[in-house]
Amino acid sequence: TPPTHPRRIRALDPDVVNKIAAGEIIVAPVHALKELMENAVDAGSTSLEILVKEGGLKLLQITDNGSGIEKEDLPILCERFTTSKLQKFEDLQAIATYGFRGEALASISHIAHLTVTTKTKDSNCAWRACYDSGRLAPAKPGQSPDPKPVAGRQGTQIAVEDLFYSVPNRRRAFRSASDEYNKIIDMVGRYAVHCSNVAFSCKKHGESSSSIAVQTSASIVDRIRQIYGGSVASELVDFSTSDDRWGFKAAGLATNANYSVKKTTLLLFINHRCVESSNIRKAIEQTYSPFLPKSGHPFVYLSLEIDPRRVDVNVHPTKREVNFLNEDEIIQAICEHIRSKLAAVDTSRTFLTQT
Ligand code: ADP
Ligand code: MG
Repeated sequence: TPPTHPRRIRALDPDVVNKIAAGEIIVAPVHALKELMENAVDAGSTSLEILVKEGGLKLLQITDNGSGIEKEDLPILCERFTTSKLQKFEDLQAIATYGFRGEALASISHIAHLTVTTKTKDSNCAWRACYDSGRLAPAKPGQSPDPKPVAGRQGTQIAVEDLFYSVPNRRRAFRSASDEYNKIIDMVGRYAVHCSNVAFSCKKHGESSSSIAVQTSASIVDRIRQIYGGSVASELVDFSTSDDRWGFKAAGLATNANYSVKKTTLLLFINHRCVESSNIRKAIEQTYSPFLPKSGHPFVYLSLEIDPRRVDVNVHPTKREVNFLNEDEIIQAICEHIRSKLAAVDTSRTFLTQT
């Protein structure tokens, strides 16, 4: 029945606010993993090892060899809006790191059991801390919540257990652990191609072989071969173009007219962050259609760097979407360049078969 008097307005409990915010940022395990990978890369890591149990719902563990975290910072590590990457609003204009608002770890700590083990170069031991709802928490009931010294190598290991335990509706929505694992593998594969000086491995708990394993020294083509297969890797054309008028640089690898599959694979990074763009996807598909058989599609890895002052990364908490100036002009310039590359390969092939 509708109320006859207005209901009074009250402030929500901060824990409720945080849980709501967390649910917007972390919709599926892959979103937590993406944040953790970006943090590891931001910390200068050259090796990321990922371990996954039950599609990431039971365990997501990522071990890096980056800078580590100062012991003194551990008490506020998982508080909302604590970050080492942004100090004032203007900094958003030139943000070069993946993270920028200190929400990822806070969010995860509200919806999962989070354990951090970390060692900086100058510390003589590693420190382990557990978190619950933004705060340090005891590992077991009755224990002290203070970080504990443990043995360990330089870098950080983050273990996320029982994701969505505190939001049972969300937890129940996941029907298939293997679907979630496939999303994780897809995302790790993307970063493993893009972060070309970083070693990646991703393994399902209990399996002896890794789903993804690339060495630090592997070239981008080698990475694509290992992750997406030889049929893609042997038909790649590299491209690189820029235009100061629109403040962008674009480079990548795209399959030539010999390669054609049912669905486009687009690995898109804007300022080193993996994002989606239906406008770019559509434009690329149009560019390829004269070169491929009907219903044929390409594989394209595109790294787009745009002057940070022209990009708004602050569109949505997930940062899955970015807005930038002169989008139409930039997309057109990139596609025109790819078209010329495809045409050149096509001509040389016609030429070879003619002679
Ligand atoms: P943001 O990345 O937006 O700063 P996060 O919640 O993702 O927010 O991380 C908070 C802070 O924790 C980071 O600014 C960084 O200083 C530290 N941090 C997180 N993960 C790592 C890591 N793997 N190695 C070193 N420092 C880390
Ligand atoms: Mg982050």
